[in-house]
Amino acid sequence: MEHPITAGNGEHNVFDESMEVFHQAADLIGLAPRIRLELEQPDYEHIFYVTAHLEDRLVPLTPGEAAALPPLDLSVIPGNAGLVPLLGGKFVLRPEALRAGSIHIRDGVIRLDAGLYRIAPGGFARFKSYRVQYNQARGPYKGGIRFHDAVSLDLFNALAAEMTWKTAIADVPFGGAKGGIRLDPRAYSKEELEAISIRFMYKLKQLIGPTIDIPAPDVGTNSEVMAWMLRQYSDGERERHEMRGVVTGKDVRIGGSEGRGRATGQGLIYCVEEWCRNTGHAIRGTRFIVQGFGNVGSAAAEILTALGGRCVAVQDADGTIYDPEGLDVAALIAHVQHPSNLARSVRGFAGGQVISTAEFWSIDAEICIPAALGNAIGGAEAERLKVKLVAEGANRPLTAEADAILAARGIDVIPDIIGNAGGVIVSYYEWIQNKRMEHWSLAEVNARLERAIKSNYGLICDIASNRSIRTEAYDSRGFTTGRAVPVRTAAMVLALKRIEAHYMLEGFSQ
Ligand code: NAD
Repeated sequence: MEHPITAGNGEHNVFDESMEVFHQAADLIGLAPRIRLELEQPDYEHIFYVTAHLEDRLVPLTPGEAAALPPLDLSVIPGNAGLVPLLGGKFVLRPEALRAGSIHIRDGVIRLDAGLYRIAPGGFARFKSYRVQYNQARGPYKGGIRFHDAVSLDLFNALAAEMTWKTAIADVPFGGAKGGIRLDPRAYSKEELEAISIRFMYKLKQLIGPTIDIPAPDVGTNSEVMAWMLRQYSDGERERHEMRGVVTGKDVRIGGSEGRGRATGQGLIYCVEEWCRNTGHAIRGTRFIVQGFGNVGSAAAEILTALGGRCVAVQDADGTIYDPEGLDVAALIAHVQHPSNLARSVRGFAGGQVISTAEFWSIDAEICIPAALGNAIGGAEAERLKVKLVAEGANRPLTAEADAILAARGIDVIPDIIGNAGGVIVSYYEWIQNKRMEHWSLAEVNARLERAIKSNYGLICDIASNRSIRTEAYDSRGFTTGRAVPVRTAAMVLALKRIEAHYMLEGFSQ
């Protein structure tokens, strides 16, 4: 059988690499050839373009450009009305700024207190967009929407496949999908992002639906983006309230679930609790480091701290901070979420010491939580880690090389497909609540989430150690393979056996 392991240019690509564990597990359980063919490529790959109108910008001049200009009078814009700060020192320039201020413009250049800026006229822009619908054997396609400037079809194929395994492992009746737009959301105003998001949904509408394909937030998107998308999907429809489940991750006030915002971090810490129980580690006093302090990383840090853990270092895209005595996680979250912190970064936090990106990986701690982007931990980082456990909050944060090094060094891993499954599990609860027009309490959501995560993590640990048992929570007897396997392979075995059951029992329409 052909196993597509390399890209045409002979280099590994993300999707093919992500499928290596699939092939190992498929070989291990003797997955039927036709089921394997169905699962080793996506059902549908959609690439499309959306256009939207962008506002005028003020772009800072470089020192060289500024020096070449003759003197220019200072413009005064009271209260900076009509100026919207963006990443990189740029501003969106609204007409009211020019109307309200005392303005001097020459050759498209304006001088403000903060420096000289070129006025870059707005206009229409085009954005490349994607939706990969990977597999729907177990239920409607399900997966997040990512706004990021480094996305590709290859990446979305890998992430959509991962959602297929994750929904099976979480035992929620969904398949797998993923998609998004190639852009850095920090470079656009809220109004521009709304325009881009609704145009995206305008085009996506014919491909998705509450029982067909259900998007959710991912990197660069949030509940606000989901609200715009819900509106665009359902506006003007006669039965629009029936459509509330077309996206999950909504604000609680418009049909979102209690607990969804922190569910991924919460689920990860339920796994960490089980790992501590299984290995005899006490959570109280456990030192941990976190890479990525967005939705997942900050929630995981907050919850683990509340259980008595000590967060000794945090790294994000813009900086790394460290305190061996433990950072004040609540204060750090307040710092990152402060409206003046445009990069939403830990950089500039007064309660910790700045260290280099490289130093982060060799900090003394018990647990490392990668919760940023894929491939964050390669061979070099894996060699330096001093922890006992890597609990994967991000998708695919370990390269294959890093995985092998950690295994050889005896460092445990909680794999992403169970570690960060909390988000999709609570998305499923949100979807049920929308269908039933119900609203569950946070306690109910978390009790269900805890049962779901801990029982499926227990199954994975049993498959890994080849232990066939029946407990009150689960029965691993139908899943073990006759030998011990790495935990990541064990998770894939669980996914494939659950998906296989659908193909075997329902059969194929020709
Ligand atoms: P987010 O956008 O809220 O936060 C991302 C964080 O990663 C930010 O702190 C950012 O600064 C940091 N980061 C980005 N590039 C970095 C770099 N090069 N080095 C260090 N830090 C960097 O995203 P999120 O929702 O928290 O998602 C994080 C990861 O978890 C992603 O891999 C995502 O696919 C995965 N995930 C998220 C959810 C969810 O419910 N949000 C669910 C499952 C998986």
